Amino acid sequence: MLCAAWLAAVLRAVPVCAQEQTPQGDPVVVVIDPGHGGENLGGEYEDYTEKEMTLVVAKAMKEELEKYEGVTVYMTRTGDEELSLDERCAYAESVGADFMFCLHFNMSGEHTLFGAECWVSAFGEYYSKGYGFASIEIDMLQELGLYSRGIKTRLNDRGSDYYGIINHSVERGLPCVLIEHCHLDQANDQPFYDHDEKLKAFGRLDATAAAKYFGLRSEALGVDYSDYETVSVPVPSGVMRPDQTEPDVCMIDVTEQNMQNGEVTVEVSAADYDSGMLYYTYSYDNGETFSALQKWPDREADTFRFTMQVPPHIVPQIMVNAYNGYDLYTTSNMVSLPSMDYKTAEELAAELALKEAQESASDDVTQGDIPADAALGNQTKRQREAVLREVAQDENEEQTVSFAYFLGVCLVCALLVLGMAVSMILILWGRRRRRRRRRRHRSSGRS
Ligand SMILES: [Zn+2]
Repeated sequence: MLCAAWLAAVLRAVPVCAQEQTPQGDPVVVVIDPGHGGENLGGEYEDYTEKEMTLVVAKAMKEELEKYEGVTVYMTRTGDEELSLDERCAYAESVGADFMFCLHFNMSGEHTLFGAECWVSAFGEYYSKGYGFASIEIDMLQELGLYSRGIKTRLNDRGSDYYGIINHSVERGLPCVLIEHCHLDQANDQPFYDHDEKLKAFGRLDATAAAKYFGLRSEALGVDYSDYETVSVPVPSGVMRPDQTEPDVCMIDVTEQNMQNGEVTVEVSAADYDSGMLYYTYSYDNGETFSALQKWPDREADTFRFTMQVPPHIVPQIMVNAYNGYDLYTTSNMVSLPSMDYKTAEELAAELALKEAQESASDDVTQGDIPADAALGNQTKRQREAVLREVAQDENEEQTVSFAYFLGVCLVCALLVLGMAVSMILILWGRRRRRRRRRRHRSSGRS
């Protein structure tokens, strides 16, 4: 099968001077077509609306391209007008256009795809001219930092060019390229369009690519592309069909498993002989979930290694999806690994925090700055001391009472003894008096 990506590799080897494409003296007529407009908004995502973005890019492209000599530039719309695809092509034909550049921004259903791509006609000289310009454009978008999704063709069910603007241009004998600058719904691409100045930079880039393609020069800009070497794209004999099959092969092998930190190194071998490799995604749960799309590290190489992070406490079941230039993928074999019970950074941090809290608590018991648990212990201790104090007080009181009782008893005993002693004295004294009286009676009776 004839394939755009395969051809690109071959074409790099045969550069040709831009001057050969634009004979000296013939002014080039360029039509810029800002995609969408009016009710036709194009892609919409967050604050971004495609019809507005394409108009900013188109105006900047026209302004920049008009700084070159030997070129006349038109736009299919300069405001928010709605035009059919055929009306745009009819306008381009009416002004005698040599080429039409259709400016767009892309979106994907799952918001996963990222990068820039160019669509060209699959037929004859429209293919070779389109591809010639697109290879310059894509190279420049890559230099800007965007990921290249390639230069591609697409056909509808009837076997004609799928994109209406390309189809109608070809019908009117007009070469045309559809530029999808990048994806307006993807974080990887967002830094390239998040400001009007960046959209204008896209416009200047598009103008420079066109100037290089036509071999233009600009005194105002101080540049001369009349000797610029473009790739020579032979007019294909057949239809340049899109790739409709998944990658031919995708195999993986695990080369390293780090049990301490969960890193797993995987070797991927994948190839697509039609449109080449574009992205890959990986899974550690047997394909239940996959990572975000990753750039294919080297588009010329079929084999590469990458390291993925596997979470702990699972049995890793590794697999990879490898995507070709048309976003079709092949799933690899699955590699099952021993479970890795390492601790994550979060788990280690939580453990450390707990240990520190415990150490701090034991310090506070001695230092007096009391965390909750220690405070509870101290409170109990204080209560116990209070109870002990109360018991001691009670004991003291009891001792005082016993002593007073003892003193009382002693006093009573002493009084009893004293009473008895007094009684004895009185009795004895009474007896002596009676004896004396009897003696006196006897002595008076004798006398
Ligand atoms: Zn569009």
